[in-house]
Amino acid sequence: MSHLETRGLSLSFGGIQALDGVDLDVPPAEIRGIIGPNGAGKTTLLNAICGLTPPSAGQVLLDGEVISGLKPSAIAAKGVGRTFQTSMLFSGMTVLENVMTGLHQHMGANVFTAALGLPSVRQEDADAREKALAALDFVNMRQFAERDGGALSFGQQRLIEIARALVSQPSVLLLDEPAVGLSPPRVQELDRLLRRIRDERGITIVMIEHVIRLVMGVCDRITVLNSGAKIAEGTGDEIIANREVQEAYLGKA
Ligand code: ATP
Repeated sequence: MSHLETRGLSLSFGGIQALDGVDLDVPPAEIRGIIGPNGAGKTTLLNAICGLTPPSAGQVLLDGEVISGLKPSAIAAKGVGRTFQTSMLFSGMTVLENVMTGLHQHMGANVFTAALGLPSVRQEDADAREKALAALDFVNMRQFAERDGGALSFGQQRLIEIARALVSQPSVLLLDEPAVGLSPPRVQELDRLLRRIRDERGITIVMIEHVIRLVMGVCDRITVLNSGAKIAEGTGDEIIANREVQEAYLGKA
């Protein structure tokens, strides 16, 4: 179980201040929603946390240890997993192999040699398969293990991406719009899955999401960004009642 914090996190692209001194404090095993209008800096915040675009000022701390400044692979190795806004499953590889790529790089290399038909079946591949199958089980997608990754529906791919992020057993999971494009019943399934990730695995979740019903239903607390800055934070009820949020985002001024 991990405690994730950011302190004064700032990042600018040219003249655009994409993040402006963002403080976050996400206790262990909390589901934190990040909402805000387009261009508010939500994806930039996740990218800064996982090291893809290092902050120009401020820090990211995992259980009190500064992790900003480390490479993305080192941050991942410390237990920070993530998914992306657009689906990134590989075609020409099975769902199982796609999930295996979420493991260590050397395991990933074996997955690629396997995909090329090269003999590489060793014990670590067997272990990787077991872990990937367990992750697929957890998201109720094991029956798709041998399908081509590119052949699944969009909603199914989103679940596989979560399995791929879970396979390395992260303590923090960053999700970028996991519900985008999902039908209402699928959003309900995602809601249940997120609760299980928190309650059964004790994973801390930071989730960007525009599907407000999901955010309000599943998140313990919500942080609202606008123009790179935090403008509000609280429970769903507190956020809905916040006048600045209504004006900036919920459109009920
Ligand atoms: P959305 O809801 O549309 O995904 P967002 O809240 O995730 O938006 P970001 O994608 O983080 O917003 O963008 C924040 C600001 O930073 C925007 O003004 C965006 O144009 C800018 N920005 C993001 N990435 C880059 C980049 N690589 N180069 C230049 N500007 C960028």
